[in-house]
Amino acid sequence: MYRTNTCGELRAAAKGQTVTLAGWVQKARKFGGMIFVDLRDRYGITQLVFNQEINAELCDRAAKLGREWVIQVTGVVEERSNKNPNLPTGDIEIIVSQLNVLNASETPPFTIEEETDGGDDLRMKYRYLDLRRANVRANLELRHRMAFATRSYLNDRRFMEIETPVLISSTPEGARDFVVPSRVHPGEFYALPQSPQLFKQLLMVSGFDRYFQIVKCFRDEDLRADRQPEFTQIDCEMSFVQQEDILSIFEGLTKHLFQIVKGIELPDFPRLSYADAMRLYGSDKPDTRFGMTFVEIKDLTEGKNFGVFDSAEYVGAICAPGCAAYTRKQLDELTDFVKRPQIGAKGLVYVRYEADGSLKSSVDKFYSPEDLQRWMDRAGAKPGDLLLVLCGETEKTQKQLSELRLEMGARLGLRDKNQFQCLWVVDFPLLEYDEELKRYFAKHHPFTSPKPEDIPLLDTDPGAVRANAYDLVINGSEVGGGSIRIHDSGLQKKMFQVLGFSEEQAQAQFGFLMNAFQYGAPPHGGIAFGLDRFVSIMAGLDSIRDCIAFPKNNSGKDMMIDAPSTIAQEQLDELHLSIRNV
Ligand code: ASP
Repeated sequence: MYRTNTCGELRAAAKGQTVTLAGWVQKARKFGGMIFVDLRDRYGITQLVFNQEINAELCDRAAKLGREWVIQVTGVVEERSNKNPNLPTGDIEIIVSQLNVLNASETPPFTIEEETDGGDDLRMKYRYLDLRRANVRANLELRHRMAFATRSYLNDRRFMEIETPVLISSTPEGARDFVVPSRVHPGEFYALPQSPQLFKQLLMVSGFDRYFQIVKCFRDEDLRADRQPEFTQIDCEMSFVQQEDILSIFEGLTKHLFQIVKGIELPDFPRLSYADAMRLYGSDKPDTRFGMTFVEIKDLTEGKNFGVFDSAEYVGAICAPGCAAYTRKQLDELTDFVKRPQIGAKGLVYVRYEADGSLKSSVDKFYSPEDLQRWMDRAGAKPGDLLLVLCGETEKTQKQLSELRLEMGARLGLRDKNQFQCLWVVDFPLLEYDEELKRYFAKHHPFTSPKPEDIPLLDTDPGAVRANAYDLVINGSEVGGGSIRIHDSGLQKKMFQVLGFSEEQAQAQFGFLMNAFQYGAPPHGGIAFGLDRFVSIMAGLDSIRDCIAFPKNNSGKDMMIDAPSTIAQEQLDELHLSIRNV
C-alpha cells in the first residue's frame, strides 16, 4: 500500500496514529535541528517533521530533498504547537520515521504554489506543473462537478448521451472548418464538427426523443482574445417540444448547476426580446447586473442648431449614477475610450447634473438648462448624476453606447463576479444581411425555424422574419443558444433558397438532411451551452483557458506539445498534399 491517507484529510482526531503518505515536496525549511516539509497531493498539504535529535540519519536524507521530489513517508500524527488556521490540516503534523524517495525532480521552472513567479508562457509550456497548483486544480474540479451534475440532471430527465462522429464533412455554423486530409481518398477531406447540429437533428428523426452530449467542437475562427479553436459544448436536442419546453428544462439545468456548485437559488430568468435588448442595452447579450439602460433623446435634441445631433439617425444616452463630479481628465478618458478604433465613436457629449441642481454640459452653446433638464428627466437622472450621450447611425451607435455602458459598469464596480444575473434573449431575427456580399446569412444557423406567423415574410421582407431562437445570457456572456428547428423539407429548401444556395448546392451539402426530413421528422428543437464559458463564469475566471486542462494560447498554439507543427515530407506525400508559399 503506497499510502494510508491523503495529504488533505488528517485532523487533530488522528493524533497518535501511524500513517503513510505519498506526494510531492512543495517546500522544505530547516529550523534549528528540524526540517519541515510541506507534502502536497491533489487533496491538500500536510506538514512533515524530521527531527535531528530523534533520527539524525533520516534528517540528513531529508535535507537533500528538493522541490517536487516524489516521496513516501511513514510517521506518527502529532498535534502542532504552532497551528496554521489557513490549512485544513493545519492542526497536525507528521513526525516522520521512514522516508522513501519515489522519484527525484529537476528544479521546477517556476514556484508551484498558489502564488507563482511563472509567467503565462512558461506556465503554458509546463502546463502539467501548473496543474499541480491548487487554484488551477480547483477550476478543473469545478468543471468536473458541473459536467457530472449536468449528466445526472439530464439522465434523470431521460436524455441519452450519444456520441456523434468527429470526422465529418462541413456543417455551416458561420465559422471556418478545420479540415483533415484523407490518405485513402486522395484529394478528399474530412472536416471537424463546428457542432453536432445535423447529427443531433438526425437522431431526432431516428426517434431518440431526448439527446445530449458533452462534446468537443472545432471552429477555425480568427483569433480573438479568449477564444479556443476547440471548445466543449453541452449539446442537447429534444423532440415534440416547443420553445417553452426547452427554456423550462434548461433554465432548470442552469438553476441546478448554480445550486450544486455555488449553493445559490436563482430566481426565474427574465426574458427579453432581441429588439428590446438592442434598444435598452445595444447588445444581444446584455450584462444585467446593473441598470444604466439606454434612453433615446433624439426628439428632445432637435431644432437647436446642433448639426451633429440634427443629422444623426439616433441620439442615445446613459445615466451614470453619482458621476457628476468626474474630472476633466476622467471625461477625457471616456472620450478617448469611445473614440478608440475598436469602438469608433466620433465624440462624446456629457451633461453634469450638479449636486445643487444646476446643469453643465459640453453642448451648453446649443442647449439651454431647460433643454438639458428634459434630457435628464427622461433619463430619470438625479442631482449628482452624469449623462453620457452618443449619436450616429442607430445600430452602430447602440453598439458604441453598449461598450460605454460596460465600461462605466466596470468603473463603478457594478460587474461583481460573485453576482449572477441570468436571462433569456428571445425572438432573434432569422437572417442577417451582409452589405458587402449582398446576401442574407442565417443569424443562428440555416436549420432554425422562423416563427410560423412570420413565414409569409420570407418572400416579401426576409430581414423582418423572427426566428424561434433563444440565447441564455449570464453576466453579459452568451452561455447557451439554440432554436426550434425546421422539420419540413419544403421549408428547409426554401430557407436554403433565401440563403442563396442553388438547388444543386443545397442538394450536395444537405441532401441527406432533406431526405431524412421526408421520412417522418418530428418537430424538434435544442440548445447548446458553452461549457468552458459557463465554468469560467461560475469560477469567476478572467479567461476560459483557466478551466481547460490543456488549452491553446491566444494565438491558437499549444506551447507544451508545440502544435500546430510541420510534418515530414513522407507524411505529406502519403496524404497527397504539397505545401506552397510557406
Ligand atoms: N449548434 C448550435 C451551436 O453550436 C446550438 C444549437 O442550435 O443547438 O450554436
